Amino acid sequence: MPKLDTVCHREDVLNTPDARKPAEWPVYALAAAAAAVLLGGTYLLASTTIDRLIRKDAETTGTLWAADFGKRMPDLDRILGGEPPSAESTRFMVNAGELGSIFRFKLFDAEGRQILVSDELGTRKHQTELLGTHNPTAAKVLASGRAHSEMKHGTTPDRPPVFVEAYVPLFTNGRLTAVTEVYIDQTEKLAVFRSHMAYATVGLVALTALAFALPAAGFLWRSRQKRSAEDRAAFLAHYDKLTGLANRSAFTAMLEAAIALRNTAGESVSLLHVDIDGFKDINDSLGHDVGDAFLQGAARRLRALCTSDDLVARLGGDEFAIVPGRKGDVAHAQRLARQVIESVATPCTARGHEIVATASVGIVVVAPGETPAPGAVLALKRADIAMHRAKADGRNRLSVFSPEMDDALQARREIERLIRKACREGGFELYFQPLFSTRGGAVTGFEALLRLPDGQGGMVPPAEFIPVAEDMALISQIGNWVLHRACEVASGWPQPLKIAVNLSPAQFADGTVVRTVREALRASGLAPGRLELEITEGLLLDRAEHVLRDLTELKSLGAAIVMDDFGTGYSSLSYLWKFPFSKIKIDRSFVSALSDADPSVGDIVRTIVGLGQQLRLEVTAEGVETETQARFLGVAQCDQLQGFLLGRPMPEHELRAWLAGGQAAAVRERAAESVPG
Ligand code: C2E
Ligand code: CA
Ligand code: CA
Repeated sequence: MPKLDTVCHREDVLNTPDARKPAEWPVYALAAAAAAVLLGGTYLLASTTIDRLIRKDAETTGTLWAADFGKRMPDLDRILGGEPPSAESTRFMVNAGELGSIFRFKLFDAEGRQILVSDELGTRKHQTELLGTHNPTAAKVLASGRAHSEMKHGTTPDRPPVFVEAYVPLFTNGRLTAVTEVYIDQTEKLAVFRSHMAYATVGLVALTALAFALPAAGFLWRSRQKRSAEDRAAFLAHYDKLTGLANRSAFTAMLEAAIALRNTAGESVSLLHVDIDGFKDINDSLGHDVGDAFLQGAARRLRALCTSDDLVARLGGDEFAIVPGRKGDVAHAQRLARQVIESVATPCTARGHEIVATASVGIVVVAPGETPAPGAVLALKRADIAMHRAKADGRNRLSVFSPEMDDALQARREIERLIRKACREGGFELYFQPLFSTRGGAVTGFEALLRLPDGQGGMVPPAEFIPVAEDMALISQIGNWVLHRACEVASGWPQPLKIAVNLSPAQFADGTVVRTVREALRASGLAPGRLELEITEGLLLDRAEHVLRDLTELKSLGAAIVMDDFGTGYSSLSYLWKFPFSKIKIDRSFVSALSDADPSVGDIVRTIVGLGQQLRLEVTAEGVETETQARFLGVAQCDQLQGFLLGRPMPEHELRAWLAGGQAAAVRERAAESVPG
């Protein structure tokens, strides 16, 4: 089996801060290139400037030297005219090499012809041999009248390492008559210039670098700040801040990748959905700080149970999820879930508070064969359904998802939708089932039974939708409507007929029941004595005092209080004398058991009737379906009978016809027959 983190690289999904660092190297490369360009440019600029300065300096030296040329070579004109130099001029030429930096010179006539070269006097007696050698540079200087120079590097021992050949125009009486090419040794000057320039260059480069480096450093610092902020944002986007575990969105992405990859490999993936039981109580009673510390501890414990291959996430609130990395089978998931349950159940301390908690775990296995393959969202939903099943089964346990759970959930969602719709659009209906006196068989009244149309011509049974409405905290609102409607309908019936209305414990919990009953009576004008309120034993278990107060108040209004479904709950006799009941209804299960062979059921029913008589409570038997049952109950001296044998629950319009027609009387006959003598 491929490892889960090779399957879905966490970094890819989670973008861990290290992995997503954008490279800084382009910035550094750019800086290095800029520095290189700066240095190279400065060097080039400096060296051309130095060359220029050296040449200009040489030109000046040459020009100054040439100014005295006429004095030093008095026979210059004659020399230019082609005659050999005089002894004085020859001496001057021989000494030329010792005249400071000037170590050689040449002379050109007005046509640019070379007349003589100072250091060749000793070897060449007849300079005329050189006549006719045309020098274009000299010619150019002659034409422009401006000095010209070239820098050279000495390669032979008789030349200095660096020298300048300066062509300087010679004037006689203001007339340009010749050009002298002066060789000037600039080796020493160049060294001095270079050292000065080097200092200047270094200073300049340093200043320039500083001018660039400061903003660049600022830019780098700012971009680093920005990146660390981005890193943090990315971290927060993928990890849960409180526990450091992956968060829901990151986990969903990883799960998605894992399912896809395992599916193609023909392997299954298991998912555990862990929910802390009653975490809200920890939060509410000990505060959020303690709650947070507890969750951090829980996250650590889960992590400790898992290997580095397993994915662990906090889905939000007190919900965690685990995907085992190496094994996707249900047995492994169950083993891990049991460890999780055991670990969470181990008492711990959070901020000094000892906490005992439990966890419920839902498991789902995504098998490769399923088509269409469920995605991460569906897998999480199924794990959630399984987790809720574990809670419904008593918490502190695990539950493995099965498709039926989903069906049940779908059905519940549909009921919720129908309830919401009925509340919004006034879609509930009331049916009425008659109750008959066993003495004379007269109809004594009706029980109002709530109906929820299923939108397809049928009805959702109250046993299915009332618990859902209770969970949705809508039962008070619905019960309010039932009370008003039932009283309103009953107020149109012939005087003695009563109406029985079922009350849910939730209607007592919010403390509005007395007011609602009073208002329903007032609005309908129904005499309170014609209203019966049916409650079940479950209501009396909790907060008995406050329920007792409400029931007593309801009774004082004139309504009768009926103990419904008697015999199914705890059937504590103390309730019967502690609370102000007027009537008990023997549960349908006893009546239907009457037909069975077991004679003890008959004894129980007779006992209940006897108890009612002792406590001066009326006794009604419900669920009467057969003549035999009716006869038995009549003999047992039940006061009233209710059941399909005598009348089914019916909608209001049928009821009116039923009352107006002869049915009531016909049934009366049958009911009367059940009472002997
Ligand atoms: P319940 O109070 O015990 O109501 C009697 C139930 O027994 C009714 O079911 C009725 O239709 C059924 N029944 C009557 N005679 C026979 C019979 O001969 N055989 C059989 N098999 N059943 C019979 P229904 O209408 O489905 O109501 C179920 C439960 O829903 C009621 O039990 C009651 O607890 C609750 N309920 C109904 N309407 C309301 C209401 O308006 N408010 C509240 N809070 N609960 C209601
Ligand atoms: Ca009832
Ligand atoms: Ca009942």
